[in-house]
Amino acid sequence: MADPSSRRGHRYATPEILRYVDALHASHDGALAAAFEAPEREGMPAIQVGASEGRLLELLARLAGARRAVEVGTLAGYSAIRLARGLGPEGRLWTFENDLRHAAVARARIAAAGLGDRVEIVEGDAAARLSDVVQHGPFDLVFLDADKGRYDLYGRWAAANVRPGGLLLADNSYFFGRLLEPDDSDAAAMRRFHEEAAASFETACVPTPDGLLLGVRRAG
Ligand code: SAH
Ligand code: MG
Repeated sequence: MADPSSRRGHRYATPEILRYVDALHASHDGALAAAFEAPEREGMPAIQVGASEGRLLELLARLAGARRAVEVGTLAGYSAIRLARGLGPEGRLWTFENDLRHAAVARARIAAAGLGDRVEIVEGDAAARLSDVVQHGPFDLVFLDADKGRYDLYGRWAAANVRPGGLLLADNSYFFGRLLEPDDSDAAAMRRFHEEAAASFETACVPTPDGLLLGVRRAG
């Protein structure tokens, strides 16, 4: 029988194709461009999601009819702007960031996008501060994109605080290619995250460059 995963070895996307489809489907207006370019301009790590993943987050939020969402890992606010747009005018996003400089840049970018009243940046370690927003749940969508060694913890929080039918999304689910490393405690945490997510959510791992886990919360 054919290996059902074998076609993943093919790489049909050339740089030219990606430029063409991103320009057509995931282009940036002024606010998105400013947030996307902020990390490099401000000397921050440029580790925001790609344009097509950002657009996917926006459309998944809209498709799910999500109104209340949580993001772990704000950086300069690029994915937060995408998500908040997908939530629509009634939506609210709580986004967690432990680097105060990143939070300040994100606050400016999000305000410039006209989303300052819908997006709350929660400063501090997400592991310590997630409990502060539980009162606003249950949530329709949780997006993980911060410290990879604690995805297992964040995934458990999401299982407890996402409504049945709500979405779990997690960037870097291949852990930069290190997911199966045997002697790496962060890789082990990421594998636990995958396994526990599959138990609480209907899951798929979308083969973006570093894997985007998508889960729909099971009823039980
Ligand atoms: N989601 C953003 C990119 C996030 S990069 C985008 O696509 O636009 C990861 C961010 O998580 C960094 O800004 C980093 O400072 C932050 N971070 C790392 N560990 C954290 C923690 N324990 N709590 C809160 N934020 C954390
Ligand atoms: Mg990421």
